[in-house]
This record gives sequence, C-alpha cells and structure tokens, in this order.
Amino acid sequence: MSFSLHGIGVSGGIAIGYAHLASAARIEVPQYMLDQRYIDDELKRFDEAIQTSRTELEILRTHIPPGAPAELSAFLDMHLMFLGDSMIAEEPKRLIRETQCNAEWALAQQMEALVARFEEIDDPYLRSRQEDVVQVVQRVLKVLMGHPSHIPLDVSFDVDRILVAHELSPADMVIFKNVRFAAFITDLGGTTSHTAILARSMGMPSVMALHNARSLIRDHDLLIVDGRDGVVIVNPDESVLAEYRLRQNQWRIDTDKLKRLKTSKSATLDGTPIELMANIELLSDIDAVKAAGAQGIGLFRSEFLFLNRSDLPSEEEQYASYRAVAEALDGKPVTIRTLDLGADKQAPWGHTVADNPALGLRAIRLCLAEPALFHTQLRAILRASAHGRVRMLIPMLASFTELRQTLQRIDEAKASLRRDGLKFDEGIPIGGMIEVPAAALAANFFAEQLDFLSIGTNDLIQYTLAIDRADDSVSHLYDPLHPAVLTLVQQTIRAGAKAGKSVAVCGEMAGDPLLTRLLLGLGLRTFSMQPASLLPVKQQVLKSHLDEVAPAALRLLKNTDPDKTPVLLERLNGERS
Ligand code: PEP
Ligand code: MG
Repeated sequence: MSFSLHGIGVSGGIAIGYAHLASAARIEVPQYMLDQRYIDDELKRFDEAIQTSRTELEILRTHIPPGAPAELSAFLDMHLMFLGDSMIAEEPKRLIRETQCNAEWALAQQMEALVARFEEIDDPYLRSRQEDVVQVVQRVLKVLMGHPSHIPLDVSFDVDRILVAHELSPADMVIFKNVRFAAFITDLGGTTSHTAILARSMGMPSVMALHNARSLIRDHDLLIVDGRDGVVIVNPDESVLAEYRLRQNQWRIDTDKLKRLKTSKSATLDGTPIELMANIELLSDIDAVKAAGAQGIGLFRSEFLFLNRSDLPSEEEQYASYRAVAEALDGKPVTIRTLDLGADKQAPWGHTVADNPALGLRAIRLCLAEPALFHTQLRAILRASAHGRVRMLIPMLASFTELRQTLQRIDEAKASLRRDGLKFDEGIPIGGMIEVPAAALAANFFAEQLDFLSIGTNDLIQYTLAIDRADDSVSHLYDPLHPAVLTLVQQTIRAGAKAGKSVAVCGEMAGDPLLTRLLLGLGLRTFSMQPASLLPVKQQVLKSHLDEVAPAALRLLKNTDPDKTPVLLERLNGERS
C-alpha cells in the first residue's frame, strides 16, 4: 500500500531507495561488514566491552549511597546477571562470526530478538523485564561506540539504502558520515539541530520530525524522500515514481549548472565583495570546501573530534587535525571554534546531563569550568596557527567576565608555548560568537574587545525565542524572520562596523538562499555555511544590488504583521531575479 508522510525537509534533493530501519536501540548503531581477517579483533573488542560494562556495574554496586532505595542493589544484580548470560555475552559473537557484521550491530540484533521473546510472555511483570535487557545492551553499546573499530568503514550499504531512524544524535551522524546512504529520515529533530546540520554537510536529502516513520515503514519498503518539501512517499506507484525520477534528474542538472559559479568572483551587482566561507565538522569535509570554491573556513566545529570516544583527544592529536586543516586551506583563513560541547552534543566522559542542558554547562562555560581541557585545546589551536591563517572563535559568550577569563586563559596558553619554545602566531585573531541575546545587545562591547564577531543564528534564535532547536514539537515557532531576531542581527552587524571589526553569520541562516538578500540588506558582508549551500547563496549574491536590497530588508525588519512577512520576503527576493 502506498502512503505518504510529512515532516520537515532539512536537506534538499530527492532520493529514491529502499528503507533500512535503524536498530530499535535508543542509540542508533552503525552496521558494516568486516573482512574475515578482522573477525578476531572484533570478538576481542566485544569481550572487552562486556568486561568494561561489568566493571562499571560492579563499581556502581559498591558505591550505593546510604539511604538509596533497597531495590537499587537488586536492580544492579539483575543487570549483572543479564550481562553474564550467554544470550548477551556469547550469542552476538556467533553472529559476528557467521555474518561478519560489526559488534554493535550483532548486539543490537540480539537485543531485538530477546525483546521479541519477552513480548510473547503473558505475565506483565516478566514482560516488562525487557526494559532491563535494553538498558544492559545500551550500556555495552555505549562502551563499544566509545571504542571505534579499527576497521575502516568502507564496506557499507548500497547507495540506494535510506536510513529510517527514530532519532539520531550528532554523534550518530559522525559515524554515519562514513557509511553511504542515499538519504535519511527520522521521527524526531528540528531543522537547525546539529543532526540536521550534519545531514546538510553530507549533502544528503533528509526529512526529520516525521513522528511515525520508524513504526510505519518496514525494512525494504521502497521510499521516495523529498528533502526540500519534507515529504516521504512509501511504496509509490509507477506514475509517482516516474514523476520523482524526473524531478530528481532536474535537481541534479540544476546542481551541476551551479558548479559553473565556483570560480566567479563573489560580489554584488554594484561591485561590493562578499566573503563566502564554509563551515566544517571534520577534516574529511575539506574536499567539499574546495569543490565549492569557499574563501576560507568561517567555522570549524572542533567538538566533533571529541564525540564517539571515551577518552579525550590529546594536544598532539588535536594539533595534528587543526594543522592539517590549516595547511589544506593553503593561506586562506581557518576559523577554529573552541569546544562547544553540551546541550545536544554530549561526550561520553562529560558531565551528567543537566535538566536543561542548553542553558547549562555548555561551550565556553564548560571550558572555563574545565581549565585543563581548555588549556590543551588552546595550545593545540595556537600551535596550528604557525601553519596557516588560523583564527580562534569562542562560542556562547554572554558575560564580560567570561570574555575576560577566556582572554586570560589564551594568554596563559601562549605563555606556556613560549616557555616550551613552540611556535605560534602571536597575533592570532580572537573572535566571539554572538549567539545569546545578551551578547547581541552588548555587541558594542564584544566588538571592541575582540578581533571579529560571528553570529550563530541557530542559537541566537533558540535563545531569543526560547525554542529548543532540536525539539520538533516547537519547530514551527523557530522563526529567523522574527523582528527581534533581525534586530539583534542588525545591531551586531552595526556594532562590528562601528568598531571596524568584521562580522559574519555562521548559523544556518547564512546558507539559506532565500535569506541571502535579507542579510545583505542588513549589512552583512561575510557568510559562512555548509559547503553544499555555498553556490546557491553565491547565485543570489551575484544578482543582488545593495541599493535595492537594503531598503527592502529594512521594511521586513520593521514589519510587525506576520501575514505580510512572506510577501515582503518574496518581494525582496523577486527583485531582479
Ligand atoms: C549557531 O548557533 O548558529 C552556530 C553556528 O553554532 P552551532 O550550530 O554549532 O551551535
Ligand atoms: Mg551555536
């Protein structure tokens, strides 16, 4: 039976392929095939993960706080018993041997088989014990995923597989970055969540917030994913399929045509140069940066080096990554953002997740609370600055004290490098992200103290409108055109101009071609975005005239009638196009 599902299109393009349901585990697990010669290593990795999980549980059992409920000890005993049961500790190994799959996948498959057996039990109490099985498996999966397999993830799916998941975290996405899918769709997630941002960076059609996709779609169903309109068609009939094949072809032709703009100078019709930079998460994104002809990297989200592992990257490891990016960019600017962990990007070793993590110990707050961690990263970034045009960017600044402390920590890191006789750029530019309303309102101060500013509109919108950017139930309220947001963006741009400092936008607004003219009209001259968005944005820049877009943008900023907003935006974009 054919039916369609509607969600939020977070990354454009059309994909046609077969559903691949991600595991029901609450952590999405990667699946790949192993070469026979790696099987023994994989079995060892599995045994070690079981052992680590057992040690964790035993430590927990011996540290039960006085006054804790008596059931806690029984509960931990039960988990230890499950962990020792051959159904969990041995059976996955048989799967690894026989099907040559990775350990995470074998364990998740075995968990599903066990859960299905529990489902058949009549006694409701015993049936509910499946929860414990799932929890034990999750514990082992977390350990496994913190210790990535040494095997390169090159043996993967056919390109016509579409991943269907309930939810994917940014950390899951990093793993899936190495596995080729045609598209992915999820039940949860918002358009500026980090998961969506990663989907765009992979240039993969994706739809989120479908609510029931994981339960309604079956493995191997034929799917059409329209990542622009947010539509998924399940088991389409021949005529619909033919129509979408045509649209897919047209989309490919349009994308190919845009490639011609790669080498054109980025300037408006009146000759004003506009800087178009790229956002990256990993070293492997550099190819896409070059293919798009970006003028530099406006945002390197360094925290992705810290995900999916249980240890911290050392100074040497970080230095090697930052240096590789700096060298690959060959003299073009590379803006390395210091760690922005917390909220939806949680490292396994991190602090316990707060009740309200987006307002908690995130980004610069976390770094200032963890001086050793911050010092190591600052040294690594500074050392990389000896090998290219590196700039440092501080996320989520809100208070003047934070800025003062941060600058002090940077000075300390510099002093330690001098003592060690290690080279770095003494004049490395230090910039601040404006992504909290307080920082935008005090942009004059931040512009004076720093070398450049970069507006993180994803968070600026989240914090201005009080909307969790990863929560699809409020995603309809996430409004980049809200006058409050536009006013804060404009004020920040003006503060930068007054202080003679450059201001970029590096949030998703910068990569939306429908908003290019608006941002130009508000005075923006530097954009940083996912490489895949760069040429569509450039196309808009090339046909814009600042004399026309500036008054039209102001009309939009001053508009208080939400019904008129789409009309004003259309008019702004309609001129000359
Ligand atoms: C932003 O908030 O707009 C931004 C660029 O940072 P991130 O999306 O990584 O939070
Ligand atoms: Mg941000």
